[in-house]
This record gives sequence, C-alpha cells and structure tokens, in this order.
Amino acid sequence: MLTDLIAETLHDRRDALIALTQALIRIPTLNPPGDCYYDICKVLADRLKPQGFDCKFVRAEGALADSAEHPRWNLVARYQGEEPGDCLHFNSHHDVVETGHGWTKDPFGGELEDGRIYGRGACDMKGGLAASIIACEALIAACKTAGIPLRGSLEISATADEESGGYGGVAYLAEQGFFSPDRVQHVIIPEPLNKDRICLGHRGVWWAEIETKGRIAHGSMPFLGTCAVRHMGAVLAEIETQLLPLLASKTTAMPVVPEGAKQSTLNINSIHGGEAEPEPGYDGFPSPCVPDRCRIIIDRRFLIEESLDEVKAEISALMERVRAQRPDFEYEIRPLHEVQPSMTEEDAPVVTAVADAIAQVMGQQAEFVVSPGTYDQKHIDRIGKLKNCIAYGPGILELAHQPDEWVGVEDMMQSAHVMALAAVQLLGLPTEPNPS
Ligand SMILES: [Zn+2]
Repeated sequence: MLTDLIAETLHDRRDALIALTQALIRIPTLNPPGDCYYDICKVLADRLKPQGFDCKFVRAEGALADSAEHPRWNLVARYQGEEPGDCLHFNSHHDVVETGHGWTKDPFGGELEDGRIYGRGACDMKGGLAASIIACEALIAACKTAGIPLRGSLEISATADEESGGYGGVAYLAEQGFFSPDRVQHVIIPEPLNKDRICLGHRGVWWAEIETKGRIAHGSMPFLGTCAVRHMGAVLAEIETQLLPLLASKTTAMPVVPEGAKQSTLNINSIHGGEAEPEPGYDGFPSPCVPDRCRIIIDRRFLIEESLDEVKAEISALMERVRAQRPDFEYEIRPLHEVQPSMTEEDAPVVTAVADAIAQVMGQQAEFVVSPGTYDQKHIDRIGKLKNCIAYGPGILELAHQPDEWVGVEDMMQSAHVMALAAVQLLGLPTEPNPS
C-alpha cells in the first residue's frame, strides 16, 4: 500500500532530514538586512533539481528592502506529476531574526543533541522547510516504488522577508501570479505551530506612530515651553486606564493561541522624546531643553469581529479626549502598516486532509488554532485570492525567536509524515497501483 511505503521511505530518510535541517541552519539568512538569500535558494535548488523539480529563482526586484547589496531572492520549485491534477504548495520563509543574547549553543552551528537540532531558525522555520522537502521526496519515491503515477504537482517555495512583512517574498510572488487559484489549489505553510495543531489564520494588525507636539524652551524655564513628553504621558495614562481595559473586554470566537491573545491587544513598541540619544563616544552631558516632540509606535492586534475602521476610530477618539483635557495639545497619527485578519474555513480541503493525516499518524484529533501574529497567509489570501491555506509545521510556537531555539527530530519526522499523507489525499492518489 502507498501509505505503508511512505512510512518506510520516511523512516529511511531520518538522517537526511537531520543533515538538511543542519545545512539550512548553517546559512545565516539574517533579516534584517537580508543576508545569504541567494545562497540558501542555491542549496535548495541544487538538491531539488536533480530529483526532477523545475527550479525558478525569483528576485523581488523593486520590492521593499530589495537592493543590489541585499537582493531579495526566492525559490519556487515545482515537481510535475505524470497525470494532470491539483497543485499542493508548501511555502516556507528562509529568513531568520537576529540571534539576540543568552545563547549556550552556536546560533548557526546546527548542533544535534538529545534529538534536538539547535540554531536560529531551527524552529522558525528551517525545520518546517526541511520536513516539507523530505515529505515531498518520500512521496515521489514511494509512488515510483509502488508504480503509481503521481497526479497533479508538488511545489516547494523558500521565500524572503517573512519576518519583516513578506513584501520581498510571498507578497511579490503572489503579485506575479504564483499563488493564483488556477496555478495552486492547496497551500501548507510549515510555520512552527506544533505538530498536532492546524493553524487556520491570524488576527489583524494595525501599526501607527503617534506624535505629540510641544514647544522647545530652556530646561530651567519649562513654563516658557510645552513639554511633548508630558503630553505623551497623558496619552499613555489614557491608554492604561481606558483603552487597555476596553481591549481586554473584546474577546473572539477565533481559536487564537495562546489564551492571552483571545482578545484585542495593544503593545507600545517604542517611545522617543526630546533630544536624540548621543552618538556612541560622546561622554558629555545632554543639553537642557523642553522636548518639543515625542513619538510612540503602537502595535494593535485586532479580531475578526472588529473592523479596521473601528480600531482606528478608537485611537482618534482617545487622542481627542486627551486634547479636551490639555491646553496646547497637538498631535499627529501616522498609519504605518495594516493587515486584515484571515481565517480559512474548517471544512476547506487542506484542513480536512491535514486533520485526517494527524489522526492517522498521531492517533489524535487535530486542534484548530489561530495565530496571534500574522504570517505569509495574509498575502496568499488577499493578493493571491487563495482561501485554501493553513499553517502546519513541526516547531514549538513558544521557541520562535528565543535564544537556544531548537526543533525536535521526532517532531519533524511526524509532521513530514502528516504532510506526505495529506498530499496523498489532496492529490487524490490511489493507495494501490491500478491492476494492469
Ligand atoms: Zn516564521
């Protein structure tokens, strides 16, 4: 039976999966600035091409952050089966975030210890990328051994810049038609959401910069100026006492994880006021001035039950309340970035196929979840117009972006198995060869 052959073939590829994951971690595709993007695409193409994948290198020319020094390279590899049918696409981002402090392992060493592979991007999401590649390779090999012609096609993409919005990656590819529904019918994004969970989508995002304005004066005579930092203090107090309790009361029917994200949230990403921080090396005192500008960046995450207009109106109303209480209060709100929430239906083909495969491989029911933060599904949904898309991958969500990030070998093996069995169902492969 094809499914037995897949299990055996995968079993034999455990070492190959480890080696591939390590090789990918050892390419430091840091974003920003966007290092080694071509190198990682080349390593993947060199592996996939000899196996019959048609490999396209796509540079997101002119996209956000694309430059001669840091070109935004993407790889789209397609394996065309012998018979016509649907295309199942696995999309992984190849970029990783900065390492930060607190590591006890080499962040780009790919060290294997006690069944875990360590490194920046191990969990998010080079482990998922490697698992999807091994899943496709095992499926193709098992079909050949069984004498079953592959129906439809398998696609693997490794894309840039997910960590900084995906504009040089999936957004660009979607604009070029790579995710149009006549070309691709099913998408699995192997982001780290845990091997027994299916992620249906994500909450929405609105980022904005809020600036309060005052008037500069001598610090010894603050009454002659207007302090923009004190203005901002009033804004922060209003956020603290009015807005945050309101957001905590807005809950959602979306199955968002973790629990704390089942409501609207707001983070203040940064605050800057007054004189700029001195250049490194300057050891003099700062000068005494009343600050005339103060800025914060807010990161508002919203629910499928809320509209973006509502989210924006809430902030405007808050600023107007502060204005009513303070003389000389001036402000500006500059929207920076917005993403609508996205959620695939629970009965979409890709959801049911992966849920069935999880039940088969792990003997348990899949849990449906929604991600607190966005990922590339937003572009596949809105630009690509493809609704049949989920995130499903081996890494543990909470380890993403942490020091000593790791991915479990057994988790990767199991989720590769799930991906291969889901492919059998989605491509409608017969489990036995036709009697000839
Ligand atoms: Zn990721």
